[in-house]
Amino acid sequence: MNIVLLGAPGAGKGTQAAKLVEEFGTAHISTGDMLRAAVKAGTDLGKQAKKYMDAGDLVPDDVIIGLVLDRLQEPDADNGFILDGFPRTTAQAVALDAELGKVQRPLDAALLIDVQPEVIVKRLTSRRMCKECGYIGSVADEKCPKCGGEMYQRDDDNEETVRNRLDVYQKSTAPLIDYYRGSELLVTIDGDRDPNVVYADVKKALGL
Ligand code: AMP
Repeated sequence: MNIVLLGAPGAGKGTQAAKLVEEFGTAHISTGDMLRAAVKAGTDLGKQAKKYMDAGDLVPDDVIIGLVLDRLQEPDADNGFILDGFPRTTAQAVALDAELGKVQRPLDAALLIDVQPEVIVKRLTSRRMCKECGYIGSVADEKCPKCGGEMYQRDDDNEETVRNRLDVYQKSTAPLIDYYRGSELLVTIDGDRDPNVVYADVKKALGL
């Protein structure tokens, strides 16, 4: 399965990707996770990306495209991949199509997890992540329910940055919905439901 997860920040892409990874072992390629790891490690990429991430703006296309195309060449992606948070611009989608065409590994689906903006603001400002395993929870989780690790709030999950991330999504990323509709890969799933119910629809859409 080669899939792209589309949807606003906080729509539940990471949660659904984690469920697919747990059940099917598919490679999970999350550009947000890759960038946060680079920031934490203090690499040149991390230093370059941090200012964009803190403001809720997009990291420039050339940086992100190079990162993802390299990652797709790693062996674990040979048996399928879930792209989470990429592509986010038409230029990224075009570069991805060109690369996948070259290596004859076409996409099977682009799943849009659809959630209304006001629900997203509430979700993201109360979102907490596990420092140890990356579990995505909420302010109600004092410790990680999966591994007992410490929960923290992402720097960009404050209301002001969240609102900018939503504006950026509308302007730069939402046009990809039509892009993938045009290539008949788009499947829209209502993301404003319990994550397990959403997951059942995700599997149905993928024929799993
Ligand atoms: P996410 O974890 O997917 O919400 O991403 C967090 C931040 O990383 C975004 O707000 C952007 O600053 C940056 N980022 C992640 N993926 C991309 C991408 N495909 N293109 C540009 N910037 C990205």
